[in-house]
Amino acid sequence: MSSHPLTSLAAPGIAGLSPYEPGQPVEEVARAYGVQDIVKLASNENPLGPPASVVAAIADATHNLMRYPDGGAFELKERLAKHHGVAVEQLIVGNGSNDVLALVAETFLTPDTSAVFDAHAFIVYSLVTQATGATALRCTSRASHHPTQPLGHDPERLIATARADTRVVFIANPNNPTGSWLTETEIRGVLDHAGPETIVVLDEAYAEYVTEPEYPDGVALLQDYPNLLVTRTFSKIYSLAGLRVGYGIARAELIELLNRVRQPFNTSSVAQAAARAALDTPEFVAAARAANGAGLAQLSTGLRGLGLSVLPSVANFVLVDFGKPAHGIYEELLRAGVIVRPLGNYGLPNHLRISVGLPAENERLLAALAELPLAAA
Ligand SMILES: *Cc1c(COP(=O)(O)O)cnc(C)c1O
Repeated sequence: MSSHPLTSLAAPGIAGLSPYEPGQPVEEVARAYGVQDIVKLASNENPLGPPASVVAAIADATHNLMRYPDGGAFELKERLAKHHGVAVEQLIVGNGSNDVLALVAETFLTPDTSAVFDAHAFIVYSLVTQATGATALRCTSRASHHPTQPLGHDPERLIATARADTRVVFIANPNNPTGSWLTETEIRGVLDHAGPETIVVLDEAYAEYVTEPEYPDGVALLQDYPNLLVTRTFSKIYSLAGLRVGYGIARAELIELLNRVRQPFNTSSVAQAAARAALDTPEFVAAARAANGAGLAQLSTGLRGLGLSVLPSVANFVLVDFGKPAHGIYEELLRAGVIVRPLGNYGLPNHLRISVGLPAENERLLAALAELPLAAA
């Protein structure tokens, strides 16, 4: 932590905060290691890139760049309302769904309150919670030898960890970086126990990838739970991570509160146009889902063939347990021009997270790993 005198002036939550560590950019790795032809499997992006109709909508939107966007993103919300069968008033659009997560924290968390999330949940929950000065209550994950959801969220522990001052429970379904997921019954269990004074955030960033028949649609739960907020994004299957656009769905009363703190122009006109066009590409989404299924199988089979332990995943990445500190392997992969994600800041120093890439990219990763000594020390 910096001991710079300015640090003591920062709000208490900020002074103790370690910033988010993104996947290493391709350019940085190229510079540091002098390698060309780099494969990035570090940020759970969809390697297909957006379809032509979305790129055309982006180009078309450039004709109006001198104007401010519609801050309320009305046309996009109308399109989303149809897509999800909800009212326009039930939607809020954000600069990525991370923006919506931060709005929840700003709206409901103060230094006298707490938020609950799994110890290996998406790290942004911890960041947005700590920034408000609220207490972060991390609960233990399921065991690493759990038969179906190793290191997954444990709904009973989420419930047991909540206190009277808990205002937000964050659930990632599926979770990043574990690839695990919860059933409808498990999510209802958390919602039933949370009570009306706790907002339950169901983060469904990877929902469109999931092919598991029992995987629940969080939006269908909104009619039963006024304290539920579901978040979705265009960064993952829609392949628009660079544009920054995501959204939240909840009861109108909850959305209205979030809108009070939302920046007036938090999403660009270009991002809104792209997102609208993206909702008209169900064939692209289906093809991306199918390609991801094949990529997951390719990676899992290949990694297991190298004797590695791969956790089951319903998303577009896999978590690999190396059985020993994995940072050296991470660095060797960088030298070989393959960027994956180390997880020390997730409390998983023996693991690496590998995003599903194009078939040739997955092959590069497997070939690079095959060159390394992988046996547990
Ligand atoms: C990638 C991801 C997001 C999406 O973030 P954006 O801000 O929409 O790009 C949200 N939640 C989880 C769990 C993620 O992994």
